[in-house]
Amino acid sequence: MTFAIALGPIAEGECIYCRGRIEKLTDEHVLPYGLGGRTILPKASCESCRLITHAFETIALRHVLGPGRYQAGIPPRKGKKRPKSWPAYKRGEESNEKIMIPLDEMPFLLWMPTYKTEASFLGELPEDQVSSDEDAFVVITEHPERVGQKLASHGADLVSANIDHLAFARMLAKIALGYCVMTFSRGGFVPIVNPLILGNTDRFRTLVASSQPKEDGFIDPKKFRPELRHEIVHRIVQTGMIQVRITLFANLNGPPYHVLAGVQGNSTLVYRETENGLSVRSLIAQPLIP
Ligand SMILES: [Zn+2]
Repeated sequence: MTFAIALGPIAEGECIYCRGRIEKLTDEHVLPYGLGGRTILPKASCESCRLITHAFETIALRHVLGPGRYQAGIPPRKGKKRPKSWPAYKRGEESNEKIMIPLDEMPFLLWMPTYKTEASFLGELPEDQVSSDEDAFVVITEHPERVGQKLASHGADLVSANIDHLAFARMLAKIALGYCVMTFSRGGFVPIVNPLILGNTDRFRTLVASSQPKEDGFIDPKKFRPELRHEIVHRIVQTGMIQVRITLFANLNGPPYHVLAGVQGNSTLVYRETENGLSVRSLIAQPLIP
């Protein structure tokens, strides 16, 4: 599949995702409410984009991150309740038996996907951040012995997560776009992550990467502080791209994520996807309107 979309700066009255001029736009959170985000972008999303982003955020928040998000003290949405229990399993010869454990008695577990660092990011990561060799994940958790004890006290010995790298990458792209709208204002940059957010492409590797946390290790429950601390910062890399660094659960040593979210300035660009994937650099070299 090959396609190209002309993209310019976002105008007032446009949906920040599909760029349609839609009368009824709803407010958007920069960080999802489900991560404790409170900062709002007024009149930002149309209804059909809201449904698209809601779908991948649900996967990324509920099925990827796991019970740690609730245990870290993130309040549920108004009118909704956090789950009372979480599934664990007892290993069986033919199949595993599901055992529901009260959320308060589950070990602290937070699965965070990590991404292979593509060539477009090499040399663009700060020196103290080590690139990732392959798509994987890190688990932010208590000492394995304590995890084992907590599970065993309910007769379980397994937990599982669905590490959906694509859904999580789309959520990171959405966070980075919202951050740029907040930071540069709608007219101050040209976003390039929209096709990924909207699901028009699933090739995220030139746009999303991660680096490894500075230290490994387990959370000492005595030192564990459940307060939230996510960090979002940006820098402009030499190509003029806006690189947004998102560290979710930075207080728990979560891995930093990197998103090439847009280009500074107000030129109009052509976004291209070809057989060879997205080429971020050729995208910059092809302004439609000087
Ligand atoms: Zn839209």
